[in-house]
Amino acid sequence: MRKFDLAVVGAGIVGLSVALAAARRGLRVVVLERCARARGASVRNFGLITLTGQDRDSVWNRARRSREVWLEVAAQAGIPIVRRGLWVAARRAESAAVLEAFLRSDTAQGCELLSVAAARRRCPALGGENVQAVMWSPHELRVESREAIPALAAWLAREQGVVFHWETAVLGVEPPRLHTSRGPVSAAVTVVCPGDDRVTLFPERLAAAGVGRCKLQMLRLENPGFSLPGSVLSDLSLVRYGGFAGLPEALGLRRRLEAEQAEYLLHGIHLIIAQSADGSLVIGDSHHYEGADDARGADFAAEERIYALLLDEYRAVTGQYAPAVRERWTGTYAVAGGPAVLVDAPLPGVRLVVVTSGIGASTGFAIGEEVIGELFDT
Ligand SMILES: Cc1cc2nc3c(=O)[nH]c(=O)nc-3n(C[C@H](O)[C@H](O)[C@H](O)COP(=O)(O)OP(=O)(O)OC[C@H]3O[C@@H](n4cnc5c(N)ncnc54)[C@H](O)[C@@H]3O)c2cc1C
Repeated sequence: MRKFDLAVVGAGIVGLSVALAAARRGLRVVVLERCARARGASVRNFGLITLTGQDRDSVWNRARRSREVWLEVAAQAGIPIVRRGLWVAARRAESAAVLEAFLRSDTAQGCELLSVAAARRRCPALGGENVQAVMWSPHELRVESREAIPALAAWLAREQGVVFHWETAVLGVEPPRLHTSRGPVSAAVTVVCPGDDRVTLFPERLAAAGVGRCKLQMLRLENPGFSLPGSVLSDLSLVRYGGFAGLPEALGLRRRLEAEQAEYLLHGIHLIIAQSADGSLVIGDSHHYEGADDARGADFAAEERIYALLLDEYRAVTGQYAPAVRERWTGTYAVAGGPAVLVDAPLPGVRLVVVTSGIGASTGFAIGEEVIGELFDT
C-alpha cells in the first residue's frame, strides 16, 4: 500500500486548498472524493471571491490572503478570472448611509462611493430608476466555478504531484489508515473537508458543533446584451454581509426593508449578479435553513416564487426585464452559529474542516494554509 504524508477527504475548494498548502511544502498528498468530480457547493456557487463587506475578523483577512492565492494559482493553472470588482447599487437613502459608514471603516480601502451618473458611465447596466448611489470595490474576482474547480484539481495532479482517487468514499478514519469504498489508504495525517455531509465521518462532532445545512436557489440568464464590468449587489446584501450589517446604520435600512421587502427577508434573498465569459448572468440567491426555522431548507424543491422575487430585484437594479432563463439549480452548504469555519481535532493527526459561513470560495485557500501550518509547523 502506498503511504502518504497527508490524506484529504473531499475535492471541493476546501479540500483542494488543504492539498495545495501541503503540496507547496513538498508533502505527499492524496485526495479522496466520492464523486467522479466535485459536485458540491464549490461548483454550484457564483465563483465570487469577495472581501468587500465581509466580517473583518472571521472572513475579511482570510479573503484577502485567498485572493492572493487565487491570482497566483489562476495564472499557473490557466483559470480565467472572468470579472473583477463589485458594484453595490443603493436604491434607498438608508442604504447610501450604510455605504457611507462602511467607507469610513478600514476594510473599505480602495472602495469609492460614486454618483449614479458617474457609476453609469462605467457600468451602464445599473439603470434602475431608484438607484441613488453606487459603491465600487476593485477587489472582487470572479471565476467560473464549474470549470475552475476541475481545472484546479487537474493542475494539482499535474504540476503539484497530488494523487486523486475519484469515486472513492471514505467510510472511516483510524490513523494512519483510512477505510474507503475501494480499500484502505495509508496516511500519517488526515484532513476531512466534507462540505455539508454530516453523516459519514465524525457525525457526532458535527452535531456537537451545531452544523446544519442551508439551501440556496440559483439561476443562469442568457446574455442580456450588456457587459458588466464586475459583479453587482443591491440593498439586500447590506443587511446580510457582516461588514455592512454590523454597522449601526444598517438598523434603519433593515427596518425599511422589513416594511418594503419582507418576503425577501423571509427567504433570505439577496441579489448577486455575476457575468460569465459568454455574457450569460449567474443570479442568486435565497437561504433556507434545514431544521428549526424552515422546512424548506430540508426540501429539494426549487420554488418558482423565489426565482420571481430574484428577477424582480434584478429589474429594479438594472431597469431591464431579465433575459430568458437558461438554467436553474439549488446548492447547499454547511452552516453553524459562531465562527466562520469549524476546525476540529476528532483524533490525533486528524482535522475536520468545515466552512460554516457560506463563503468558502473566498476563504478556502487561507484556511488550507492555516490548517496545514498548525499540523506541520514544528
Ligand atoms: C449557491 C451557492 C452560492 C455560493 N456563492 C459563493 C460565493 O460566491 N463566494 C464564496 O466565497 N462562497 C460561495 N458559496 C459557498 C462556497 O461555495 C462553500 O463555502 C464552499 O464551496 C465549501 O467548500 P467545501 O469544499 O467545504 O464543500 P463542497 O464543495 O461541498 O465539497 C465537499 C466535497 O467532499 C466530498 N465528500 C464528503 N464526504 C466525503 C466522504 N466521506 N468521502 C469522500 N468524499 C466526501 C463531497 O462529495 C464533496 O465533493 C456559495 C455556495 C452555494 C451553495
